[in-house]
Amino acid sequence: MVKKQNHCSFCGRGEKEVALMLNGQEGFICNDCVEAAHRIVCENLRQKPADGDTYDVEKPLMRPAEIKARLDEYVIGQDEAKIALSVAVYNHYKRLRQQALSGGDTDGDVEIEKSNIIMIGSTGTGKTLLARTIARMLDVPFSIVDATVLTEAGYVGEDVESILSRLLQAADYDQPRAERGIVFIDEIDKIARKGDNPSITRDVSGEGVQQGLLKLLEGSIVNVPPKGGRKHPDQDYVHMDTRNILFICGGAFDGIEQKIAQRMNTHTVGYNNVSVRHSIDSKNLLKYIQPQDLKSYGLIPELIGRLPALTYLRPLDREALRNILTEPKNSLIRQQKKLFAMDGVELDFTEDALEVMVDKAVERKLGARGLRGIVESVMTDLQFSTPGSECTEITITADYVREQLAKSEVL
Ligand code: ADP
Repeated sequence: MVKKQNHCSFCGRGEKEVALMLNGQEGFICNDCVEAAHRIVCENLRQKPADGDTYDVEKPLMRPAEIKARLDEYVIGQDEAKIALSVAVYNHYKRLRQQALSGGDTDGDVEIEKSNIIMIGSTGTGKTLLARTIARMLDVPFSIVDATVLTEAGYVGEDVESILSRLLQAADYDQPRAERGIVFIDEIDKIARKGDNPSITRDVSGEGVQQGLLKLLEGSIVNVPPKGGRKHPDQDYVHMDTRNILFICGGAFDGIEQKIAQRMNTHTVGYNNVSVRHSIDSKNLLKYIQPQDLKSYGLIPELIGRLPALTYLRPLDREALRNILTEPKNSLIRQQKKLFAMDGVELDFTEDALEVMVDKAVERKLGARGLRGIVESVMTDLQFSTPGSECTEITITADYVREQLAKSEVL
């Protein structure tokens, strides 16, 4: 006799068609229906389900000052950018809260718009570090993409949707989590329109990409190839909702100071206001950056409009570089000390030794990015010879730093 199969009382599938079937007093339920029911219960009661796929409205929001204080632990200086970021992130989470509390229906209420951010500043001044620190602090998936690899659909390069594939991967394919993540788009200045006239030639890696980014940034449902790469017709897509993804863009915008100066010149001359002109800090024109300067640089107005929080990073001076060596929670020097401590060695640096490293970084003009290479060059020999030796204490002096740097430069 054939044994009768149990069927799910909700979807009707037999036990062979599902992974798990649970018995009730008068019926059965399959694992898929349990999950669906759980989600419906959570949606109705507005609670956070166990797998975290709804925004937790109970959790207190981190205030902007708290966000900035946490950024201060890892990033030196850049107060203007930290304040702009803290406020934008705070507003972003307020917006998520508004949606969660209204069940997505904000009819009649003031709808808070998305606060994507754009940060302008030379390379190595901390743009990526800021974005990464924010994502870690908020415990949300984070991905970095380089705008230079993106091209308009159909051309060699990556489609803009690949940005979301990376986020999905960063979230271990947990789509609801990815839909609340943060994407950092680096080198956004490299997709500026080439030339003033948009219609001379096809601009597949410039304006075309900017157009492609619009729908991602404003918030819509986007077909994403889960494994990345090019989209093709017979692929399975994940439909991702980008409404709650925070986009942070960064770029060096080399030469934008000239556009700022031009604009300010016309204004100040126009009003013939000598006192204003005198108070302009001509060494740091970036602080006067305005959305119209991005437009003069070649970003399309629609894209600028979707990046309402505009901020800038200062070039790192000598003092900032010196602080970067030791102050951040995971500073380069702390990392070295930790590495040696794991071998039972106490490592120390004299103040002069640190100064010599900073001098070298200033000379190489690579900003904070250069510091890492310098510290590595100085420490490699000792990292090689110390493990297994009798040594328990090492102090790095200025002479030792000079010696090691001279060696690495000859090579
Ligand atoms: P960007 O994205 O602006 O080109 P990054 O954020 O990648 O620069 O910085 C490169 C490295 O330099 C980072 O890993 C970080 O260690 C260091 N760095 C840069 N700016 C700062 C800063 N303001 N405070 C602390 N470290 C910094």
